[in-house]
Amino acid sequence: MTATRVLVLNSGSSSLKYQLLDMRDSTGAGGRLAVGLVERIGETTSRLKHTPLATGGESRERTGPIADHEAALQAVAEELAKDGLGLDSPELAAIGHRVVHGGQSFTEPTVVDETVLAEIERLIPVAPLHNPANLTGIRTAQALRPDLPQVAVFDTAFHTTMPESAARYAIDVATADEYRIRRYGFHGTSHAYVSRETARLLGRAPEDVNVIVLHLGNGASASAVRGGRCVDTSMGLTPLEGLVMGTRSGDLDPAVIFHLTRVGGMSTDEIDTLLNKKSGLIGLCGDNDMREIRRRIDEGGADAPAARLAFDIYIHRLKKYIGAYYAVLGRVDAIAFTAGVGENAAPVREAAVAGLEGLGVAVDGALNAVRSQEARLISPTGSRVAVAVVPTDEELEIATQTYALVVRDN
Ligand code: AMP
Repeated sequence: MTATRVLVLNSGSSSLKYQLLDMRDSTGAGGRLAVGLVERIGETTSRLKHTPLATGGESRERTGPIADHEAALQAVAEELAKDGLGLDSPELAAIGHRVVHGGQSFTEPTVVDETVLAEIERLIPVAPLHNPANLTGIRTAQALRPDLPQVAVFDTAFHTTMPESAARYAIDVATADEYRIRRYGFHGTSHAYVSRETARLLGRAPEDVNVIVLHLGNGASASAVRGGRCVDTSMGLTPLEGLVMGTRSGDLDPAVIFHLTRVGGMSTDEIDTLLNKKSGLIGLCGDNDMREIRRRIDEGGADAPAARLAFDIYIHRLKKYIGAYYAVLGRVDAIAFTAGVGENAAPVREAAVAGLEGLGVAVDGALNAVRSQEARLISPTGSRVAVAVVPTDEELEIATQTYALVVRDN
């Protein structure tokens, strides 16, 4: 029997998201066997939600304490076993792990060994929130199936093709090198997947297509992709740089930090929390969910003006990046919107490209209003630049990369 299943794990500090896919059907949806999430790991109110897609059964939930990631994965294994999809199955080919920060070391998905684990650990200072949780996920999965290849798929890998002119900050080179300060970029699996799917939607080879990808979720980033290779992206050393996000400020004058320290008397940790957790849309208007912000604007009540201003600041920043990446690429074939906001919020798409007709960029109102889970074009027929909505699928991309690596090595 050929092993064709891949378990994809995305470990956060107190959560574990997973999907089991069968890669015989490399297009994904038909091959998705089970999906689920364990939340609030380490608390008394942990919750596991499991959906067995293969059997078409109802979602199942368990609540109650799940002490750590090991117990969480054990619980996931038990749920999968109930559907005849146990992790002890010989059909499981590999486990693919999302790892947020691969620094400059990892340009491709990589089979995990002790050296790889040590390098992911060495990168913790540049990804203090994410890499420790990712490491825990890998070690836990190794303990459960030591015989299986564990593959690390890095959020930063797709961006390692950026030229030095885009990746370097204009600061003292020796200092930058000593502390490994450069622009790494994140959401790489999404940008890779969406840029490729956009080329497919246009019926062209990725090598022939230049795309601006706008990944607009709670975290948000833009990238400029020339012929399938990333040449610039908006997130930097950390995911704080770039677009206005749900709770992150994105770009700001770094002197704001000195000012808050010197004049505001704030500590580094306080400023970190302010800029990562209490800024962006939530800082501007108290809501980070675009649905809520649109509702407030549409209802026009007393809390509408703050929501309007937050929306306008969000759109202004987005438009600046579209313009910047248009200039970086020189020729743009498509602009692709993806992730929670990009896939669902028609008013954001409309506002982001409003006034760009001179650049050959426009959306058709009726096409933009269509709600669908499918990749689709929303620009008027014959537009110089195609505008598309392309649902992202990071789990499928991780599974595809993991499976390709394992099959290649065998
Ligand atoms: P993600 O991080 O990709 O899961 O995106 C989550 C964000 O998508 C939420 O915080 C919402 O702001 C946004 N979102 C989800 N559904 C909608 C919708 N129907 N309309 C507008 N925004 C949405």
